[in-house]
Amino acid sequence: MNCTEFIAKLDQLFERHNIRLPLRDELRAHLVECEHCVVTYNTTRQTIEIYRNHELYELPTEIQEQLHTAIMKKCADTKVKRRR
Ligand SMILES: [Zn+2]
Repeated sequence: MNCTEFIAKLDQLFERHNIRLPLRDELRAHLVECEHCVVTYNTTRQTIEIYRNHELYELPTEIQEQLHTAIMKKCADTKVKRRR
């Protein structure tokens, strides 16, 4: 699993009733090896908790896109640095 796949499936980690167990394990395995996605995961979880406290369940698409853009930029930066 790479970062793009992780972020695409991240929301399923928060849908405990629906997630397939192999997928949850794959997502957790990626979290162990990717600090950027840990940040994304924590940010997303906090955002969801804030929205739940306001009785809004769905994470707005706009925020999902912002998170996705930010994390992909970070990952790209890291890869460039590692190559040097
Ligand atoms: Zn990642």
